[in-house]
Amino acid sequence: MIRVTIYNECIHEKKNEKAMAIYPDGIHSVIANFLKADDITVKCFTLETVEEMTEEALKETDVLIWWGHVGHKLVPDEVAERVRDAVLTGMGFIGLHSAHHSKPFKLLMGTTCHLGWRENGDMERIWNINPAHPITQGIGRYFELPHVETYAEPFGIPNPDEVILMGWYEGGELFRSGCTFHRENGRIFYFQPGHETFPIFYDENVQTIIKNAVRWAAPVYRSNELVCPNIKKIGQE
Ligand code: ZN
Repeated sequence: MIRVTIYNECIHEKKNEKAMAIYPDGIHSVIANFLKADDITVKCFTLETVEEMTEEALKETDVLIWWGHVGHKLVPDEVAERVRDAVLTGMGFIGLHSAHHSKPFKLLMGTTCHLGWRENGDMERIWNINPAHPITQGIGRYFELPHVETYAEPFGIPNPDEVILMGWYEGGELFRSGCTFHRENGRIFYFQPGHETFPIFYDENVQTIIKNAVRWAAPVYRSNELVCPNIKKIGQE
């Protein structure tokens, strides 16, 4: 069983008419629906319930998917620190779109995570530049999203372990659209598409990538706690 937790702040879907029309039950419900599988369970939190994301809830999570935007600052620091610590013990973390500026992602990266952006609905062509990676299985050489929010380099992240997807936009900009990182025992995947006023999470390729990412990010090993033990010499225990 892979226990997935989805955090979606769910603010735009209550206020913005376009977002409400595309995601009437919230972005998290669409993601939860396409993730459904015999060996996957899904739990969801929104900004209203984010404080319920306790240490216990994170211990029971194998992979946490995060979508946030205008509510980043409203997520309590303690929750973000809990998420970081859970990743260090081995929990997987998938940051979607504007999660690049979320508190947990920034804690895990240690950098600004700034990027250039433009909201004019350009087309994006996403190139699969690592066809041998588990996350890119089932997608072709490239796929196109007719309308996205343009994200442009430079992207203020530390050098990723792998860049597996490269975004090219109609305006000519480039962006590292799919990046992987390891932080201690935890695996992290950042995936750029997912603006709230475009139906991006209904796209088959986007869904395939997120489904693959959940399986890739699921812990191989998880430590019980973060400790720096004073160890005895072998034979003197
Ligand atoms: Zn956006």
